[in-house]
Amino acid sequence: MATFETALRENSISELMLVPKSDIHTHGGKGGRIKYFAEWANTSIKASEQPFEDLNDMQNWFDSNIKVHDNGIGGYLKRVETAFAQAKEDNIVVLALSFSISVIDNLGGIDKFISTLNYYNKTFAPETKYYPELSLSREDDVNGVFDRLNEILSRNWFKSIDICGNELAQPIKNFQKIYRKAQSYGVKLKAHIGEFGTADDVMEAVELLELSEVHHGIAAVKSKEVMRWLSKHKIQLNICPTSNIMLKRATSYYDHPIKELFENGIPVTVNTDDLLIFDSSVSEEYMKLYVNKVLSIEELEVIRQTGLNTYT
Ligand SMILES: [Zn+2]
Repeated sequence: MATFETALRENSISELMLVPKSDIHTHGGKGGRIKYFAEWANTSIKASEQPFEDLNDMQNWFDSNIKVHDNGIGGYLKRVETAFAQAKEDNIVVLALSFSISVIDNLGGIDKFISTLNYYNKTFAPETKYYPELSLSREDDVNGVFDRLNEILSRNWFKSIDICGNELAQPIKNFQKIYRKAQSYGVKLKAHIGEFGTADDVMEAVELLELSEVHHGIAAVKSKEVMRWLSKHKIQLNICPTSNIMLKRATSYYDHPIKELFENGIPVTVNTDDLLIFDSSVSEEYMKLYVNKVLSIEELEVIRQTGLNTYT
């Protein structure tokens, strides 16, 4: 029986893959292993070895290396399959893969979308408990989104809501109305903040939108006051170390802010973000944090448990 401790101590990725884990910051259509998708596309695709300049540069890489192999909706669904197959492969028992409203529409509307996703969950990762996340973009027309919320959330299928994309596109305050409505449906409130923005941006967004979790949030490390506040209010940061390095948000695993955030009492988790770009699984993320002496086995175990208990 593989244990987290022995797998890390023996530097065994294959043993670590057997240990139950969570991935609660991961984007639908960009999850799963490059190798799995490349085999279907009958080609070979190599992950970028160079960091990306920004989110646009990353998207360009994705469009020309992954999306170029899509043949319409079939290619997109293969990417959804890739994400669930990876959850099974890496024993991800708690998964919060996120999807945008445009994907819901492209897959035939909310009811068709839900039955399609349930099929992929059941077929490719039946042991994975899937907690669907609705992903908005910081660039969205907020009134247009607000008008769609009842239709989308009234199925009680989505368990959380998020905002991703360019943090500087519009003030976070513009999303307050949407988040109050989402709150009335009982979904978890999260948002991408403090990846490109500041520590103050993290605190402002948590207060205005009443977030319980922040995707990334690593800029909080720049302010003792914000870290104290996040710790006091038990605001969880869902962190993706390789993503942060590949987007030049952190200089190395060794110097990654996750250590200081954890040591300041903030609940953190370890996640993949866009596995189909960054090519680093949850098991590999844990191993990198361990071999680079960022966190001890005991500390990583606390983080693993935080992830597993996020939805309980
Ligand atoms: Zn993300």
